[in-house]
Amino acid sequence: MSILHVALDLPVPRLFDYCCAETSSADIGMRVLVPFGNKQMVGVIVALADTSEIDSEKLKSAVRILRETPALGRDWLELVQFCSDYYHRPLGEVIFNGLPVQLRKPGATLTLKQAAAYRLSASGREALAQLPARAKVKRALLEALSRSECTEQALLAQSQSAKQALAELSTAGWIERYQPSAQASAGGFVEKLALNAEQQRVLRQIERAGPGYGVFLLHGITGSGKTEIYLRLIARTLATGGQTLVLVPEISLTPRLEQEFRERFPNTPLVSLHSGLADGERTQHWLQAQSGAAAIVLGTRLAVFAPLPKLALIVVDEEQDASFKQQDGVRYSARDVAVFRARQAGIPIVLGSATPALETYAHALSGRYQLLQLSQRAVPQAQLPLVRTVDMRKHKLDDGLAPAVLEALQERLARGEQSLVFLNRRGYAPVLMCPACDWVSGCKRCSTRMVVHLADKRLRCHHCGASTSIPRHCPNCGNADIHPLGRGTQRLEATLAAHFPQARILRVDRDSTRNKGSFSRMLEQIHGGRADILVGTQILAKGHDFPNLTLVAVLNADSALYSADYRAPERLFAQLMQVAGRAGRADLAGEVLIQTQYPRHPLYAALAQHDYAGFARTLLAEREQAGFPPYVFEAVLRADAEELITALEFLRQAVTLAGPSPPGVTLYDPVPMTVTRLAERERAHLLAQSQSRKALQAHLAAWSAKLHALPQRTVRWHLDVDPIEF
Ligand code: ADP
Ligand code: ZN
Ligand code: ZN
Repeated sequence: MSILHVALDLPVPRLFDYCCAETSSADIGMRVLVPFGNKQMVGVIVALADTSEIDSEKLKSAVRILRETPALGRDWLELVQFCSDYYHRPLGEVIFNGLPVQLRKPGATLTLKQAAAYRLSASGREALAQLPARAKVKRALLEALSRSECTEQALLAQSQSAKQALAELSTAGWIERYQPSAQASAGGFVEKLALNAEQQRVLRQIERAGPGYGVFLLHGITGSGKTEIYLRLIARTLATGGQTLVLVPEISLTPRLEQEFRERFPNTPLVSLHSGLADGERTQHWLQAQSGAAAIVLGTRLAVFAPLPKLALIVVDEEQDASFKQQDGVRYSARDVAVFRARQAGIPIVLGSATPALETYAHALSGRYQLLQLSQRAVPQAQLPLVRTVDMRKHKLDDGLAPAVLEALQERLARGEQSLVFLNRRGYAPVLMCPACDWVSGCKRCSTRMVVHLADKRLRCHHCGASTSIPRHCPNCGNADIHPLGRGTQRLEATLAAHFPQARILRVDRDSTRNKGSFSRMLEQIHGGRADILVGTQILAKGHDFPNLTLVAVLNADSALYSADYRAPERLFAQLMQVAGRAGRADLAGEVLIQTQYPRHPLYAALAQHDYAGFARTLLAEREQAGFPPYVFEAVLRADAEELITALEFLRQAVTLAGPSPPGVTLYDPVPMTVTRLAERERAHLLAQSQSRKALQAHLAAWSAKLHALPQRTVRWHLDVDPIEF
């Protein structure tokens, strides 16, 4: 009889013991079904022991070890243990945060489906020469197969009718379907492009560093061909039989990248991992990663927890992106976890960005990370856009748009080129107000304003999701003349439609892309030239390549210039560099116009010079002087309760509980959060800082153990290590 130490998905920092008759050390990392209270739960066995601290009469037996899926490896358990320690979350929570839903629940039947592949038969090779030109789909399939064997997935991705065509080609005996071995097969690489001199230099630099652990910051301007670098590195990794993990910030970026990767690695098993996948699909992809069958895993932040027994390279694209940080549950940074993983596995990791996070850049400047630079656009003739500010104080605005912006839009319309008007605020107007009594549409559940959404005639809270119908009269004084105040993308769309009745205007924001597939349809519409003016939020700023887009107009960026959040300028700069990067990618020159009250602000000046490095140094100097990250390390303790006073009281108690801070660690006073009320809870936080990560971590570990021991029921609390939002 052995004792299993089992991690369960519960918010308590401990393991649970169960006895089990037949088990061995091979079961460590297996999932196990155990009784808990009056139900059964799935847990993960993290260790075996001979004895338990629980009385033997009280010790329950495990129901069954779920051996149908393979055990999670030692290195995977080490990874989640690291996250549990570093982010101060219970191990069970971290483990289950990383697992696909089907592996978390009892009852799902799971088997690894083998990915299939195709190869050309001898008769197929002959047939290819005789195939009529109009059999386009079949021809493309046969041609791909004549170059190399291809995975079924890659072939299906070629066209909608590929499935039908594959069936017909199989029946004709021209191609053969087969089951490749579960080992990642080293696939062929389609070269497509010759690298330019800068790209070659960067590749050589990485090569020279040799195989082991190393962090590379690939700092390359938008359009400099970073993807091409990733592809070459992956090709080399494949040749040695290793797996590659590629992390991207947005689900919307995965299909495009996936297609590009499948084209370039036609017979390499590749899987994606993100929250947009159906449960079954996600489980299959996870299992393929775990078995080593998937040679490339492409995904969003959650993919950093994919088990990868032969991991040999990690790429994090747009490493500065805030979406790599999970903002609830286990508040991990996928980029930072990825760096830990690379060190653990002793492999290289490449962090790519046009505007690296200051934390990352500081490491590159200090030499901890190796800095690699791409300073030119990769497509010959492609120029960086001309960035100019438009002084809003000098010109009367027409419905919020400066004359220079309207003229520039008109010019693009006349030339048949596309424009993007960037406004990072969705809805019609940010608030509804009554001029008679100054009533504004507040959210009943939060200390925020309800946003006017005219499209579906509702007021919506963007913080908690609450919505109500738009009142006809002021709920306070009965005045019928109430106005939307300010401007969101819906209103901007209407304004532009009035100004340019002949233009095809397309609004791309979270509201217009809510339905499945609508975003990719819009991208097609843009690529197909069936839109003249795009109205977009940051959803359009990232990673998309629109060759016919020559103008970007930025509205309302100023608010971030003087924000209380010290990270606001860094974010704004990155965001504007990214939108600016949408303009003038191909042989058409691009122009960026920024409407502002502060045309001479250093941030805009740096942007006009495309000077990330200069701006980053300025910001870093400011941060160092003010004592902000990356020169100090931070954690936040947040608490929420029905009433603010309760949350604050809890935090004060927490400070007392922490005892005297060790030298070099500072705990600041508890204060209400900026958005104090959220979804009927009132929130407060306190900041912990230290110049030593080690000192801070040690203090947090002792502190969180005490906090967990508190008998608190009315207050919810959590620690956020390396927070990026306050
Ligand atoms: P980034 O990710 O750095 O913004 P991309 O990797 O998307 O840039 O590359 C931008 C464009 O440059 C793409 O259309 C890509 O095909 C092209 N490109 C990349 N490398 C080369 C090259 N060596 N020669 C010609 N075009 C290239
Ligand atoms: Zn709300
Ligand atoms: Zn009123």
